[in-house]
Amino acid sequence: MATNRTFTMIKPDAVKNNYIGAILDKINGAGFKIKAMKYTKLTEEAAGEFYAVHKERPFYGELVEFMSSGPIVAAILEKDNAVDDFRTLIGATNPAESAEGTIRKLYAESIGANAVHGSDSDENANIEGSFFFSNLERF
Ligand code: UDP
Ligand code: MG
Repeated sequence: MATNRTFTMIKPDAVKNNYIGAILDKINGAGFKIKAMKYTKLTEEAAGEFYAVHKERPFYGELVEFMSSGPIVAAILEKDNAVDDFRTLIGATNPAESAEGTIRKLYAESIGANAVHGSDSDENANIEGSFFFSNLERF
């Protein structure tokens, strides 16, 4: 399993607010290479499956509704130490607690509508990338 890849989504709030270009610029500027990318929209069912690990959390219903509310950009990114470095680049889940200059600090609306997703482990990066992309769609 690749340890130098992570998976991201530009979430519906950031797409709606026209931040796709700014966020991709931050991602490339931080040294990540795009290995796969698509503009798509999750059904409620697909969002529920993607976030199934959070099924028991109180925010699950709201999260599924939000993530299926509009189009997203899904991408696989490559860099040394990709998972950890990308979590640093995006900042804390709650933008009110995110470090200055992070993607969530700059572009997120709230703890729920927080602009971007970033995988939390190599294992999940692989699972999440495979949720969106076939082997013919990653390079
Ligand atoms: N979330 C939320 N309320 C919370 C915590 C999380 O709406 O109190 C949403 C938010 O969009 C977050 C996602 O659920 O990005 C997944 O939560 P997780 O704890 O995995 O945060 P992340 O890994 O995205 O920082
Ligand atoms: Mg998470």
